[in-house]
Amino acid sequence: MPESFDVIVIGAGPGGYVAAIRAAQLGLRTACVESRETLGGTCLNVGCIPSKALLQSSEHFEEANHKLAQHGVTVKGVSLDLARMQARKGEVVTANVKGVEFLFKKNKVTWLKGKGRIAAPGKVEVAGETYDAKNIIIATGSESVPLKGLEVDEKRIVTSTGALELDKVPKHLVVIGGGVIGLELGSVWKRLGAEVTVIEFLDRLIPTMDAELGKQFERVLAKQGIKFKLKTKVTGSKLDAKGVTLTMEPAAGGASEELRADVVLLSIGRRAYSEGLGAQDAGVALDDRGRVVVDGKFATNVPGIYAIGDVIAGPMLAHKAEEEGVAVAEIIAGQHGHVNYAAIPSVVYTWPEVASVGETEEQLKARGVDYKVGKFPFTANGRARAMAETDGFVKILADKTTDRVLGAHILGADAGTVIAEIVTAIEFGASAEDIARTSHAHPSLNEAVKEAALAVDGRALHI
Ligand SMILES: Cc1cc2nc3c(=O)[nH]c(=O)nc-3n(C[C@H](O)[C@H](O)[C@H](O)COP(=O)(O)OP(=O)(O)OC[C@H]3O[C@@H](n4cnc5c(N)ncnc54)[C@H](O)[C@@H]3O)c2cc1C
Repeated sequence: MPESFDVIVIGAGPGGYVAAIRAAQLGLRTACVESRETLGGTCLNVGCIPSKALLQSSEHFEEANHKLAQHGVTVKGVSLDLARMQARKGEVVTANVKGVEFLFKKNKVTWLKGKGRIAAPGKVEVAGETYDAKNIIIATGSESVPLKGLEVDEKRIVTSTGALELDKVPKHLVVIGGGVIGLELGSVWKRLGAEVTVIEFLDRLIPTMDAELGKQFERVLAKQGIKFKLKTKVTGSKLDAKGVTLTMEPAAGGASEELRADVVLLSIGRRAYSEGLGAQDAGVALDDRGRVVVDGKFATNVPGIYAIGDVIAGPMLAHKAEEEGVAVAEIIAGQHGHVNYAAIPSVVYTWPEVASVGETEEQLKARGVDYKVGKFPFTANGRARAMAETDGFVKILADKTTDRVLGAHILGADAGTVIAEIVTAIEFGASAEDIARTSHAHPSLNEAVKEAALAVDGRALHI
């Protein structure tokens, strides 16, 4: 007789595996279904972790080639061992996915190996067995969006998965889509010696980003040698023995032109994935973009079936999925799980990094909110100067009347770490003055946050 469970989670990405661990911590008999050979989902296997491993390694290569000399460190004969770099990336992934396996054992979460299908409400079928589940959590994640006229072979026309596996540095990498994934992986291959061209349909990179920050970010990447073709749409591709010829035209229409590439990275976005899950047959409603529709408590329209992570609406981020995983497990256990979407940071791990939390100026204007801006450049930050990393700035947006912090946008070295204190501030409902009156270690990059908070009130000290 197959076992029955209080909770069966389908998908072991950051949403699903965290939901399973939290449910087990709360005393619920829990299983997690995963069809991959390893746990950890997109994030650990082919997403966040391997991309950050390559970003780190390629940045070291960049430093050895171009940045160390100014520090008086002379390195001769720098060369690239791409096979070793890729092997290290593999080791990092293995350590992480094995870590999740260990956590499942520690918390007594049963891993059901195979593709899960909701046979009916309360029933999940895996590898020919049907398991009873009082509660089902759909956490099946997302997949990359295809583009008409381009056939992905993961060798010459690749998604992010293929772009993480290249065994040779392409002479010319064309990235279709100026979003986070395209810019991060474009940066990796640029640093390793590729010529990189990014084609973007819109007139700017990462359109959800604060516009002022976005412009500065584009300038910084252009200075690094990445080429941009904005307001351009790709209409087709031809493969030959040596590479790919792309055809493209202005987004608004006009004469078409061709561009040669050794490798094309298709990164125009990701979409919810629920193929073969049987969700619709079980009566679960999807929206017009194939996302599972949930209420404020992650419940679908079918009692006992919940959904979290990339497969529902909201930013496709691992930590957002994790927060939802914790919240849904607590809700199922009768607690009051909750996610504060106003305090979910988002980071682009290029160098310098871009980090944002809360609302942009454009969003505040659209909502008619009166706000104040405090800005501080890293050129005036002692630590940034010592590091020779002075690109970028911190910008804090606060309510004009209450001074409550509504958003923050950072371009700069380690911005993804620097922003954490502002995320905490927003979580606690802090004012800009609260940050400004908090002692910050000297010299630290985070002093730029304090100064930006002081600047909200027009009283920055070091500029
Ligand atoms: C290249 C890249 C870089 C990224 N970098 C970052 C980053 O730096 N920071 C960040 O926050 N986010 C990043 N992301 C996004 C992040 O990976 C996702 O937001 C996150 O993985 C979503 O988690 P999830 O649990 O919802 O789904 P996923 O991680 O996609 O996991 C879903 C799992 O469900 C499994 N599955 C699907 N259907 C079934 C089924 N029927 N039965 C059994 N198993 C099933 C899949 O095999 C998969 O393992 C990146 C993504 C990519 C592609």
